[in-house]
Amino acid sequence: MSNQRDLVVTHGNHRPGSSASHAMRRLDIEDDEIIKLPECELEAAAERFKLTLIGRVFQLKSRSIDALINLLPKPRIWNVEGRVRGTNLGNGRFQFDFENEHDLQSVLNKRPCHFNQWSFALERWEPFTWEDFPNSIPFWISVTGVPVHFWNDGTFSEIAKALGKKLTLDSKRAKIQVSINVDNPLEFERRVGFPNGDIGRVTFVYDGLHRYCLNCKHISHDENSCPLLTEKEREHRRLQRLDQNINSEKNLQLEPPRGANENRTKRPRSPPMIATYDQTCH
Ligand SMILES: [Zn+2]
Repeated sequence: MSNQRDLVVTHGNHRPGSSASHAMRRLDIEDDEIIKLPECELEAAAERFKLTLIGRVFQLKSRSIDALINLLPKPRIWNVEGRVRGTNLGNGRFQFDFENEHDLQSVLNKRPCHFNQWSFALERWEPFTWEDFPNSIPFWISVTGVPVHFWNDGTFSEIAKALGKKLTLDSKRAKIQVSINVDNPLEFERRVGFPNGDIGRVTFVYDGLHRYCLNCKHISHDENSCPLLTEKEREHRRLQRLDQNINSEKNLQLEPPRGANENRTKRPRSPPMIATYDQTCH
């Protein structure tokens, strides 16, 4: 069993945004002799890990897995304190062993999860041996731009399948729940083709998504540390954001006050101008 786990944690050197194919290519060019592992008993493993969730953080720079493990079970977050055991697996991975299925399900239902505003993946254990596991996060996504007469399951099913693994559709509200491979850049818009040949554009808003890179759309870092930007470009964008923030604050002051219960659309921030500790998983 530990072999299965070691496979995941010992490859190391995981780069932000790398994918399975990258990992395979990297292994291809390494010429060290491969250590062949013996078979493990999958049936016994399935029994041993049937109440286990495996998690993975993508923002490796400032991670504190031990803090995450201590904090998440607490009453106002997962509310499973004393009934779950967390283990740091290294390399941004961790596992939680639950005492019962009900607690495990209640935590799974709270996804997407985040810690310090960085989203992390959390999946049931499965007999994985690929380096990237787990790399999917189930997001509810609001779709904008589809004409109302196309709001049906067929339409939103096609859109969901284009983004990832389709989970649930709420066609009446133009919302889809999709398991997204977050090793890839997030998609915020796509073109759609209508039966008459017209081409339209739809945009996506992810519920519960906090920090990500506004430049390359990965959730592993923010714009301030985007490897695709030069130091000069980062500084330029930082100043641009400051300008935008000042302008939007001025505009807010001019707007009439909104109703207390009005549902405001939260705009993801990258990076937050004020550091906050929002470590919940909702
Ligand atoms: Zn980036």
